[in-house]
Amino acid sequence: EVAVALRHVSKSYTRGGQAVEVLTDIDFDIQSGDFLALMGPSGSGKSTLLNLIAGIDKPTGGQILVGGTDIATLDEADLADWRAGNVGFIFQFYNLMPVLTGLENVELPLMLTRLNRRERREHAALALEMVGLADRMQHYPNELSGGQQQRVAIARALVTDPTLIVADEPTGDLDRKSAGEILDLLDRLNTELGKTIIMVTHDARAAERAHAIRHLEKGELSSLE
Ligand code: ADP
Ligand code: ADP
Repeated sequence: EVAVALRHVSKSYTRGGQAVEVLTDIDFDIQSGDFLALMGPSGSGKSTLLNLIAGIDKPTGGQILVGGTDIATLDEADLADWRAGNVGFIFQFYNLMPVLTGLENVELPLMLTRLNRRERREHAALALEMVGLADRMQHYPNELSGGQQQRVAIARALVTDPTLIVADEPTGDLDRKSAGEILDLLDRLNTELGKTIIMVTHDARAAERAHAIRHLEKGELSSLE
């Protein structure tokens, strides 16, 4: 089953009044349950492509089809709703709110749902248990190691039960041991929970944990390995 289909996707930015094309005619399918690594030199458009797939940004041309809907045609409000229900995000620098505890950070995406306060707590606590942080839920981000902060961020990505997880350099700020633990977790989300995962990485060791690697170069995607 196809989770996301990209059809002739292109993306340009305007710089100094000139359009610069970052992605050119990207055409590929992401299957449900895939664990895909996206590699390529700095500036090749990896984050741009990830943001298009996740509905953070819109293509200049082409279609991004999810369950028969072209998300590129949704207005901002509908796109935000789609993201909230379908996509979990993991970033290089965790993007946790420093004034909130781990538990409160994980609860945040649930504020947009119908769950009441107690249900939000329960869902967030379960997600933190899943990532092995049940004993540190009341810690603030600056009381946690980088690896632990990324686990909080993974719990936050999981808590809405999205089908798709996008991760932009999730191990880029971590030592080898913590990076390995994060990759083990991503692997479990994929194999145990069936999440479709797309991970941008520079790290060949991280990319090897994915089931397929695609390379971006000069705005074009290499063929399947
Ligand atoms: P990568 O993730 O592979 O390093 P990016 O997708 O971040 O590459 O960026 C690809 C190119 O697009 C770069 O040249 C970058 O400067 C440019 N770019 C990215 N975002 C914007 C933006 N919002 N406005 C203008 N140019 C951008
Ligand atoms: P991890 O296995 O997640 O990488 P570490 O081995 O780096 O964790 O850290 C061990 C313990 O030291 C952690 O449980 C954490 O409480 C504490 N710790 C590590 N780094 C920091 C930090 N930058 N600030 C506060 N506490 C930290």
